[in-house]
Amino acid sequence: MSNEHVDALIIGGGLSGVGAACHLRERCPGKSIAILESRDAIGGTWDLFRYPGIRSDSDMFTLGYSFKPWEEAKAIADGPSIRTYIRETARERGIDELIRFNHRGTRAEWSSDDQRWTVDILRTDTEETTQITADFVFACTGYYDYDKGYSPEFPGVERFEGDLVHPQHWPEDLDYTGKRVLVIGSGATAVTLVPAMAGSAGHVTMLQRSPSYVLALPGQDAIADLARKRLPKKLAYALVRWKNVLITTAFFQLSRRRPRFVKRMIRSAVKRRLPEGYDVDKHFTPRYDPWDQRMCLVPDGDLFRVLREGRASVVTDTIETFTEKGVKLASGQELEADVVVTATGLNMLLLGGMTVVVDGHEVVASEHVAYKGMMLSSVPNMAMALGYTNASWTLKCDLVSEYVCRLINHMDANGYKQVTPVEPHASAPREPIIDLKSGYVLRSLDDLPKQGADVPWRLHQNYARDIRMLRRGDIEDESISFSRAA
Ligand SMILES: Cc1cc2nc3c(=O)[nH]c(=O)nc-3n(C[C@H](O)[C@H](O)[C@H](O)COP(=O)(O)OP(=O)(O)OC[C@H]3O[C@@H](n4cnc5c(N)ncnc54)[C@H](O)[C@@H]3O)c2cc1C
Repeated sequence: MSNEHVDALIIGGGLSGVGAACHLRERCPGKSIAILESRDAIGGTWDLFRYPGIRSDSDMFTLGYSFKPWEEAKAIADGPSIRTYIRETARERGIDELIRFNHRGTRAEWSSDDQRWTVDILRTDTEETTQITADFVFACTGYYDYDKGYSPEFPGVERFEGDLVHPQHWPEDLDYTGKRVLVIGSGATAVTLVPAMAGSAGHVTMLQRSPSYVLALPGQDAIADLARKRLPKKLAYALVRWKNVLITTAFFQLSRRRPRFVKRMIRSAVKRRLPEGYDVDKHFTPRYDPWDQRMCLVPDGDLFRVLREGRASVVTDTIETFTEKGVKLASGQELEADVVVTATGLNMLLLGGMTVVVDGHEVVASEHVAYKGMMLSSVPNMAMALGYTNASWTLKCDLVSEYVCRLINHMDANGYKQVTPVEPHASAPREPIIDLKSGYVLRSLDDLPKQGADVPWRLHQNYARDIRMLRRGDIEDESISFSRAA
């Protein structure tokens, strides 16, 4: 067991963990920081996922950090470029030296007597265990289980004689050249895989139970290109970032207020990109309203291009059973495949699966309410970096990191050792924390914390409002309590 103590312990060395460390270094310069990372690499999502075509589905001017301009040509970037961007950020700012690789945080216990966290660590390479103590824990663990992707239990799947692959665990040596590929799913991963695999596969079929909204956007941002030519780097980045924030916020608001109008607009945009007579209603018109689930973005309409060219096709149906050669559908149709990719999603996981204990009581997240979307009621000195569901993740995580720095500095300035969001009254309304109806969200709602009806317990999923609350708002309010050394 180690006696090591740090001021701030970040859990996770992905996009938000590296960002959090950069903010802390800059804004709380005297603080000692360590980062636990259970894998052996920086980058989280952008290192883990290796499927063909892996890319962002939001623009890098908003998925990038506020403090480090995204300089590549593509606005919708591929996974390796994003990984390089995160690594470069870590290297430039000395953050890579703070990361303890192969260190998984398994349990965090708060003691109000000691006013600190004790975190149990499992060495994922040697199986050794160790401990570290910290004044503040900042969980930047992402939102899903790294160990296992989600796949429904398909009847007869064991009979299938071809390759069965989940995008979260892509085999490096999978050769699908000239083969018949079946991609099951209709989300961001499926619409990425289909055009990417169609390049060398014999044919790719996307099999979906029901359609998603698919929007084609230019992969390169012409306004960003112009701004970068004419303006200083940082100014151009800030302007394009704001342009994109405003466009995505306006589109989200319009979708919520005039769903039928947006639905028609998307439908006609899709229709224009597909051949005459294509059944747009069956394959590209969802049963839900725009933004009830995250929308899929396809750069330069690459999905539609491979459909037009006949290199890929979409089937909307339900799997009755797998067979030796492929799948049999409810309609009776059989689809033969050499490779089946189950792009069926993720398993959500909060706090990287760590057990959290406060003064001997285990925290059951669903019994707590999220304060400002980043702390849990009754859980002291701990924050979580959870991004937007309707905009780029980093927009929110940057603000949360800034807020954590303000909070730590405020505590130092006032001699506080402990900060705890006060449990809202039992009769106060509690709602699900995420109002998306995506499968991965609905499957996990019972395990997630709640949100309240009003600020600071309400999640607005709105960048401008969050700037007011997290960057400029008062640190002290009636929903949070501070205390000095015990
Ligand atoms: C395929 C895919 C595409 C996506 N595209 C976009 C997009 O275009 N735009 C967008 O806004 N969002 C997107 N997202 C969401 C995406 O996860 C975030 O944008 C972002 O990468 C999250 O960064 P993060 O650092 O918070 O989490 P992650 O990238 O998940 O990193 C978390 C890190 O924490 C580590 N960790 C977890 N638990 C522990 C523990 N207990 N102990 C130690 N270490 C731990 C993990 O190993 C990992 O390195 C996408 C997600 C996926 C899966």
